[in-house]
Amino acid sequence: MKNVSLKKYNTYKLNCTAKEFYIPNDKEELLQILKYIKENNLKYKIIGGGSNIIFAEEVYDGVIIKLDNFNNLEIGDNYITVGSGYNVIKLVNLLANNNIGGLDFASGIPGTVGGMIYNNAGAYGEEIGPHVIEITVINPNLELEIIKKYSYGYRTSFFKENNNYIILEVKLKITPGNKEEILEIIKERKNKRIESQPLNYPSAGSVFRNPEGNFAGKLIEDIGFKGKKIGGAKVSEKHANFIVNENDATGKDIISLIDEIKKEVKDKHNIDLVLEQEIVK
Ligand SMILES: Cc1cc2nc3c(=O)[nH]c(=O)nc-3n(C[C@H](O)[C@H](O)[C@H](O)COP(=O)(O)OP(=O)(O)OC[C@H]3O[C@@H](n4cnc5c(N)ncnc54)[C@H](O)[C@@H]3O)c2cc1C
Repeated sequence: MKNVSLKKYNTYKLNCTAKEFYIPNDKEELLQILKYIKENNLKYKIIGGGSNIIFAEEVYDGVIIKLDNFNNLEIGDNYITVGSGYNVIKLVNLLANNNIGGLDFASGIPGTVGGMIYNNAGAYGEEIGPHVIEITVINPNLELEIIKKYSYGYRTSFFKENNNYIILEVKLKITPGNKEEILEIIKERKNKRIESQPLNYPSAGSVFRNPEGNFAGKLIEDIGFKGKKIGGAKVSEKHANFIVNENDATGKDIISLIDEIKKEVKDKHNIDLVLEQEIVK
């Protein structure tokens, strides 16, 4: 499809138009699209839930591919195999309802399994990396490959550093749990997020990684930036490490605010904040 609005496909609700946009039905169709991209030397980007990305421009001059149809799920005795397009919150709730735990730390992380692996997403001192048994990918040579070992760190992974692997499916460890107990933890954590995060505005979660021994939110609060606005983008008053789209913000508004925060934190605290979100150009 040509000239498709991505507004509903990114949680910042940025108005960006993709020159071409595809939701392939299966890996054969995905491979066809990738071959077409290679032959025509086009740029492309895979998106999951769009909950960690900032579209920098009003037009994405390439191909956006969304893997919604890679949503298979197999539940084994102590593992699951799940498609990269599967929604994480839906997955954790489904597992909880089947008395399965191990991944409940992810109950409030929007987006897909693929995005979660790419970013090594985590919460409450846990992250997805240690739960991975193997990952099926399409590698840069457009071949299927099963990866059993890969590197990951705080909100980063091999896949983020080598941005040309496409995650198709992931095998994850799970542990038996008690439905009522897991659902109770999920509920408590949800309430805490509602109390502390501006969930009533479009955002993409934490903007910056927490520097070692510090909190990005606290540093941003210290420079007096809570409530600071550029265009339609604003540093949340509720949580300073969130930028929200308050009023038809553009990607440029958000990026300008990010640049100002980085500059001011560097000037006042001599700390280089590292972006957790990803700018897509
Ligand atoms: C309200 C809110 C709260 C959040 N809380 C947390 C939190 O507690 N912890 C946390 O870690 N994050 C959090 N996030 C950030 C975000 O939800 C996670 O980073 C999430 O894992 C991103 O997944 P996604 O599918 O939306 O990825 P997208 O934003 O769509 O993509 C992110 C990156 O992953 C790549 N990618 C996605 N799928 C694939 C694939 N199949 N193959 C290869 N590359 C792929 C994309 O190309 C892109 O580079 C939060 C976001 C919001 C909006």
